[in-house]
Amino acid sequence: MDSTLQDGFGRSVDYLRMSVTDRCDFRCVYCMAEDMTFLPRQQVLRLDELYRLAALFVGNGVRKIRLTGGEPLVRKGIVSLCERIAALPGLQELVMTSNGSQLVKMAQPLADAGVRRLNISLDSLDPMRFCAITRNGDLAQVLAGISAAAAAGFARIKLNTVVMQGRNADEVLDLVDYAVNRGLDISFIEEMPLGEVGRSRGESYCSSDWVRERIAQRYSLFDSAEQSGGPARYVRLQGFPESRIGFISPHSHNFCASCNRVRLTVEGRLLLCLGHEHSIDLRALLRRYPETDQPLLSAIHAALLRKPQRHEFSSSGEVQVLRFMNATGG
Ligand code: SAM
Ligand code: SF4
Repeated sequence: MDSTLQDGFGRSVDYLRMSVTDRCDFRCVYCMAEDMTFLPRQQVLRLDELYRLAALFVGNGVRKIRLTGGEPLVRKGIVSLCERIAALPGLQELVMTSNGSQLVKMAQPLADAGVRRLNISLDSLDPMRFCAITRNGDLAQVLAGISAAAAAGFARIKLNTVVMQGRNADEVLDLVDYAVNRGLDISFIEEMPLGEVGRSRGESYCSSDWVRERIAQRYSLFDSAEQSGGPARYVRLQGFPESRIGFISPHSHNFCASCNRVRLTVEGRLLLCLGHEHSIDLRALLRRYPETDQPLLSAIHAALLRKPQRHEFSSSGEVQVLRFMNATGG
C-alpha cells in the first residue's frame, strides 16, 4: 500500500493533531461549559494505543505531530509518551499546545523529551479577567510557566489568544507588547462555534482584520509568506525580527485549500475536518486487531477519501458542531 496519505482532493496529509486527554484544569469560556462531564477512562485511548497510532501515521508519511487536549500536561505519563513519539524515525517535529499551568515544572522535561515547539494559550494579562475567561486560572502561574518554557530551549514558543469583544479585545496591543518584548510569536484566533458553551458566540465575534488594524495603530506591519504548517497567516513587525504575529481566521479567511491535517480525538476517532462531524472509530480497530495494523491503515486510507473540501463555519455564532474543542484536539 501507498506509504503516504492523500485525501480525495489531492491534498497530502502529513500533520496529525492528537488529543491526549479531554480533561483540563481550566474551563475556558469558549472551549467548555462550566459544568463538564469528562469521558470514562476506558473510553480514552491508553498511552500505548496513542503511541501505536502515532507510529502508524508516521510510518505512512506524517511528518509533524501536535499533542493537545484538553490540557495535555494533566495526562499522567505524558513526558515518556513524548519521548517515545519524538524518537519515531521519519517524524520531523513533535510539538504541543498547552495552557501553561504546569510548565514551571514540566517545560524542561518536555524539551528534554524532544518536544520542539510549544503553543501556549494566553488570553489576558489581567489576573481577574484571566480568571474569568478560564473560569479558575491563575495568571501568575501561567506567566511563570511561559518564562520557564522560554528558558528551556524550545525552538519556538507561540502564544495563542482567542479574541472576544467585551472580554479581551482591548488587550490586543498589550499582548503583542508582551510577546515581542520576549521574542515570542503570538497568534490571534477567531472563536469557532464548537460545542454549546452557554452563551452566544456571535456577540463577541472579533475578526482578524479588526485585530490587525488595531496592531497597526502601534506597529509597522509587513506581510510574511511564512507558513508553520498550520492555518495561521503571518505578519512581522518592524524592529522585532524574532517575533511573528499570526492570524487564525476560520470565519474571515477560509484556510481549507491548503489543509494538510487530520485530528485524533481522545476516544480514538479520526476527525477529517474540525468543522464537520464525520469521523471513524480507530479505537475499535486498535482493540480488535492488537497484532496487525493493516485493518487500521485500510480504514484510514478509506476515510481520507471522504475528507471534506472545506468547513462551513459562519460568524453568526450558531453552534454548528456539537463536539467541544477539548475532546477534539484544538
Ligand atoms: N489546553 C490547551 C490550551 O488551551 O492551549 C490545549 C487545548 S486547547 C482546546 C487548544 C487551543 O484551542 C487553545 O489555543 C484554545 O484557545 C483554542 N480554542 C479552544 N476553543 C476554541 C474555540 N471555540 N474557538 C477557537 N479556538 C478555541
Ligand atoms: Fe482547557 Fe485549553 Fe479548553 Fe482552556 S482552551 S478549557 S485550557 S482545553
